[in-house]
Amino acid sequence: MRTPVNQSKPPPVGRLPLPVVLVVPFILQIFAAVGLTGYVSLRNGQDAVNDVASQLRDELTERIQQQIYSYIEIPHSVNQINTNALVQGDIDPITGEGTDQLWQQAKIFNTTNLIYCASEQDGAFIGVGRPLTGNALQALAYNQRTAYQGYYYELDQRGQLGRLVDKNSRTFDARQRPWYVAAKAEGHPTWSSIYLDFDTQLPTITASSPVYAPVDRQLVGVCAVDFLLPVELSAFLRTLAVGKTGETFIVDRSGTLVSSSIDEALLMGEGENVSRRMATESQSDLVQATAVFLDRRFGGFDQIERSQQLEFSLDRQRQYVQVVPFNDGRGLDWLIVLVVPEADFMAQIQANTRTTIWLCLGALVIATGVGVLTTRWIVRPILHLSTISQSLAQQSPTKPIGPIAHRPVKAMGIREIDILAASFNRMADQLRVSFNALAHTNAELESRVVERTADLQQAKEEADAANKAKSEFLANMSHELRTPLNAILGFTQLLMRDPSLSQQHYSNLEIVNNSGEHLLALINDVLEMSKIEAGRITLNPHTVDLFYLVTSLEAMLRFRAESKGLKLTFEVASEIPQFVLTDEGKLRQVLINLLGNAIKFTHTGQVSLKVSLAPAASNANLSELPETAIAPQQVLVFEVADTGVGIPETELEAIFDAFVQAKVVKRSQRGTGLGLAISRQFVRLMGGDIEVHSVVGQGSSFRFAVPLTSTLLASTAATQNYSSQTLSRVVALEANQPRYRLLVVDDHTDNRTVLCQLLTQVGFEVYEAAEGQAAIASFQAYHPDLIWMDMRMPKMDGYEATQKIRAIEAAYPRDASQPRTVIIALTASVFEEKREQVMEVGCDDFVRKPYRDSIIFEKLAEHLGVKYVYAGGETAPQSNAEMQSDRDSQEMLSLETVVPSDLEEMPEGWLNDLDQAAIQVDGDQLHGLIRQIPQSQSRLAKELTQLANQFDYDAILAWIAAVRER
Ligand code: ADP
Repeated sequence: MRTPVNQSKPPPVGRLPLPVVLVVPFILQIFAAVGLTGYVSLRNGQDAVNDVASQLRDELTERIQQQIYSYIEIPHSVNQINTNALVQGDIDPITGEGTDQLWQQAKIFNTTNLIYCASEQDGAFIGVGRPLTGNALQALAYNQRTAYQGYYYELDQRGQLGRLVDKNSRTFDARQRPWYVAAKAEGHPTWSSIYLDFDTQLPTITASSPVYAPVDRQLVGVCAVDFLLPVELSAFLRTLAVGKTGETFIVDRSGTLVSSSIDEALLMGEGENVSRRMATESQSDLVQATAVFLDRRFGGFDQIERSQQLEFSLDRQRQYVQVVPFNDGRGLDWLIVLVVPEADFMAQIQANTRTTIWLCLGALVIATGVGVLTTRWIVRPILHLSTISQSLAQQSPTKPIGPIAHRPVKAMGIREIDILAASFNRMADQLRVSFNALAHTNAELESRVVERTADLQQAKEEADAANKAKSEFLANMSHELRTPLNAILGFTQLLMRDPSLSQQHYSNLEIVNNSGEHLLALINDVLEMSKIEAGRITLNPHTVDLFYLVTSLEAMLRFRAESKGLKLTFEVASEIPQFVLTDEGKLRQVLINLLGNAIKFTHTGQVSLKVSLAPAASNANLSELPETAIAPQQVLVFEVADTGVGIPETELEAIFDAFVQAKVVKRSQRGTGLGLAISRQFVRLMGGDIEVHSVVGQGSSFRFAVPLTSTLLASTAATQNYSSQTLSRVVALEANQPRYRLLVVDDHTDNRTVLCQLLTQVGFEVYEAAEGQAAIASFQAYHPDLIWMDMRMPKMDGYEATQKIRAIEAAYPRDASQPRTVIIALTASVFEEKREQVMEVGCDDFVRKPYRDSIIFEKLAEHLGVKYVYAGGETAPQSNAEMQSDRDSQEMLSLETVVPSDLEEMPEGWLNDLDQAAIQVDGDQLHGLIRQIPQSQSRLAKELTQLANQFDYDAILAWIAAVRER
């Protein structure tokens, strides 16, 4: 027995390894923490950017506004001064006075282009400004003296008119100019709209102021400053850093660009077709897109009334926009627009986010690494522990501990784990000790088993030897017993043929013969049993005429049954084949036994034999059948039923044991108690088994099935063969037959004499030989037709003699008309397998000793075609078994007819005397007592005499017992 260590079902194993369990949550935590921080900082950054962007826009637009204010205040201040000068005559366009004052102003305010005044009186004009080329200030005059043509003069150190440097031949009336008209119309300082300068053709804006006489408030003239505002503003705007790629621009309410941070011309086209650029026509995509957005959003630039912060998206990028209206109250009505892409602010933030992500990843890698290392550090002892415990669990208890399980778990410096390791090591040590002890015990046990096996083997060999010795002893004994028995039976039979015999002597001889037969049957049974026990019994299947077998059984048993008043029925199903392959001898013996028992144990009613077919059970034992036989699909079922005494249920199994008889019949019946045991063994050998059903007082039924192997023998030959058998007693040879010469070879004089006498009596020519050599000589001398050859002889035995005879025959073949000599072996061997050996050496047939005379005659008829004269009407001689059965039936007859009441009527004293006489086996006393039986009970007297003559004192005792039981 293996210990259950290996076999116990392991507990269910989880799939997650410890390192994973420890590392994964750790990593997840770090991931979550870092990710959350990154996300929050990104959001905060974005909010901050929004704030900053908005602040930046506010600040920038404010600066722009301030800048514009500072620009536009200058021209009006200059105009204020010049207005007063014009009223007081310090500046006079008609005379050209006052250039020094204008020169001073132009020097200070270099953002101005031209500072001038014009007279209402004649449209004269005087101004100082910078020419497009060169930086020196010049004066420009249109008046009567210049015939209202433009004269350009140099100015001296003090700003007085110097030399004429240039002339413009176009005539000019200042009162027609837009700046003049606007100031005159407004009646207060004002701005012109942006226009293209008369000389330079640059977009220009003019701040003009009307001048009135102090007393009558009459218009004296107009003073004005040409201001290159767009140019100046553009320069300023470009200096502003609006994010990285942001832009600012200024538009008037028509959407025309006043100025922008883009370096682009504000005019488009040439000559006559010159026009100002609209913001929506800007070369900058950003400016253009912003203008389009604002135009669409508000439905025109003139609809924007207050400062606004807006967002729109361009190329999927968010753009922050600020638009601020600008109005100075003197006619300037512009919009300052500022646009910054979000990306300008976000660039840094996004860079930061990227950094954060990288940092996260880095932290993650480091954390994972650290986690794995820590985990390993913690887990290693645990894993080691688990490996060792696993190897311990798989340890075969019959083997010494393996190397893995031998390593102790090391201390790791972690308190809890070290405690665990220490206790585990202790436990493992204990386990190791027990395992080793177990392995040791196991080894010891194994060696003990080996020892015992050897002992057993020896015992078995001894038993086998003893068994063999027993078998040999039995074989020899049988020979020794049968040989004299053969002589006894032979001589009695011979004597009984003597017609001069008196009736008394004849019945005495009959008794001798019957006793001999019984003894022979007993010997046969005991031998059979011992052969079975020695496993030496074999199946000898050959073709059997089943119909003949059944018919002959019926003929044999009919008399016995009828004499007991029993009905005997034999039923053979129509589909049963006539010829089957089976061991006839054994089948016959089994059937005789069962039928004999049935008749023996039945007092009224009937005994039946049914033969039928049934489908084969798959596990039938067929190994004993020859290979050539067709595998049986069906079984032959034999059922022997009776209406007899029945068998108690408690004894149903026991009756198949050797020497067992049921209690009911004990002591009341003759028998060896071996019949059923032998029958069962035979049926098993044939591949079946016997079943019994029985009810006490109602009857029994014995049933067995043997595999059916039918053969396709030529039925006629077989039938003929059987029909040649004779059941009548031979008295002589038929007339007109050849004179048959027979040779009888036997070393036993008795046996030889019996056979010779038997054969001579009938009329054969008989020769004798006492051993092999003599047999060969006789063969050569007389050329017998048939030789009866005893196989067991001293010096040369039957085998050798037969071989030599066959050799001689082969060497000197006789002519064809003379058939070769038939040799029939005579053997007392109990083993049927000898038959083959006998046939091998050249014998034609085989007869077992002791034989009965009918067999001898049958064989002669079979081999030589001898025909006999039979004793008319006499009962046919019977086979051993039949004789035995007949004897049984006679007993049964007497049992049946000894009405126990007959015996009961006898006086008690007489019964006691009979009992004593039987116990003391005192024949004289018995016969004396029988003679006392009254004439009226002559039948009882006759039966008792018969039992006494047969020396069957047991039966007499059984009867007395039965009577007493009543
Ligand atoms: P034997 O008949 O020689 O005593 P068997 O082995 O043939 O030995 O039978 C054993 C016993 O089984 C018998 O003694 C008898 O008690 C019982 N037995 C056998 N056949 C029958 C039967 N047909 N009816 C009642 N009893 C039976």
